[in-house]
Amino acid sequence: MSNTLTTAAHYGPCLARKGDYEIIDCQACGFAHSTPLPTEDTVEQIYTAEYYSAVKPEYIALVEKERTWHESVFNERLGVLEGAVQGRRLLEVGSGPGIFLQTAVSRGWTVQGFEPSREAWAYSTKVLHMPVENTFFTHEKTQNEPFDSAYLGLVLEHIPNPIQMLENVRRCLKPEGVICVVVPNDFSPLQRALHEQGFPEWWVAPPHHLNYFTHESLKRILERTGFAVISQTATFPLEIFSLLGMNYIGNDEVGRKCHQLRCDFEKTLDDVGLHQMRQEIYALCQKYGIGRECVAYARVNNIA
Ligand SMILES: [Zn+2]
Repeated sequence: MSNTLTTAAHYGPCLARKGDYEIIDCQACGFAHSTPLPTEDTVEQIYTAEYYSAVKPEYIALVEKERTWHESVFNERLGVLEGAVQGRRLLEVGSGPGIFLQTAVSRGWTVQGFEPSREAWAYSTKVLHMPVENTFFTHEKTQNEPFDSAYLGLVLEHIPNPIQMLENVRRCLKPEGVICVVVPNDFSPLQRALHEQGFPEWWVAPPHHLNYFTHESLKRILERTGFAVISQTATFPLEIFSLLGMNYIGNDEVGRKCHQLRCDFEKTLDDVGLHQMRQEIYALCQKYGIGRECVAYARVNNIA
């Protein structure tokens, strides 16, 4: 995989600075990203060796602890994919500990994951017995038979060339294939409101987060890489907690409490039969540019 875009090709107004990095609203790419962009070697080093051991030491244990909530989120997304495609072959890029793959298998999907982190890969293969390659994804590494769906959950913000990644994933999909992409929603109206009140720009985190998407720019990059967006939604706008005085920024303990409240909120609505209302609330969040994450479903655009 080579980085086809050189630093000189990127231009646009500076949105934020952190250390040696600037985040520019890149007019060439159509989304905000850091400059300079680290080399692919640096990024590979981060994700093969360091990420789950040094950056997120308790990540896998935490995911397991919150498995019920993760499964409910994943079941919802898989349900959307099942309504959009006929077949049940799924590719996941950046499959982490493998819970999404396992949830898909339980619904009858045949799956293939790619995960560069050794620890996450070891967990997904040896504990969960999921078919995962311990490598960065390239389309040459998939088998010849194309996939019906692809899932990229919290991947595109980490890699130096998300355009190339989406083009490669599209090549692995059937002509009617559908992708689901989830990325953090950054420089959102609620984040900007908090920043104006003196909060730091905590979401700016190079070199771990290189790219900074909004609902609009996620739609743009999908269209640019040969997809037609079917639907978009958001996840819970966590920033509301800080706006209400429950400031989780830089405080992991409060952060865990806020996350738990969000999980309880979702579970309560589902338990009392208000699942549809919750979905509509999150769709409205997307409309107003908020929600902690952007979620998009898009079909291969054969006209592109
Ligand atoms: Zn750019």
